[in-house]
Amino acid sequence: MDATRLSREAEKRQLLRRLAELTVEEQREQGLYKSVPHYSQLEQAARSLGRELSCLTQERSIAETAAECGATAACPSCGQQQEVRLQKRTVTSVDGPVELVEPVADCRPCRRSFFPSA
Ligand SMILES: [Zn+2]
Repeated sequence: MDATRLSREAEKRQLLRRLAELTVEEQREQGLYKSVPHYSQLEQAARSLGRELSCLTQERSIAETAAECGATAACPSCGQQQEVRLQKRTVTSVDGPVELVEPVADCRPCRRSFFPSA
């Protein structure tokens, strides 16, 4: 592993630890530790945080894919170059709703929309 990759992994680990700390702070404010909590309560909070991170990561990854798409794309039916626009759409992932930004182009002669790839 090179230095940049090691540094990024260390930063991710540090941020994940910070998220765990913030979750415990919230739980403490909510009075969860006034008595010994059931382990399932702790597990549920951790899984909820994981799902939130998953959805945010998916949104960011899809945005990166959309950013790689060109300003125009060839219609798969007629081959004419058409202007590409970005369209928001919410999908339900296994971890919850994710708002996607995806490239879409419309071809008037073919009366169709298509989703160009990067
Ligand atoms: Zn077309």
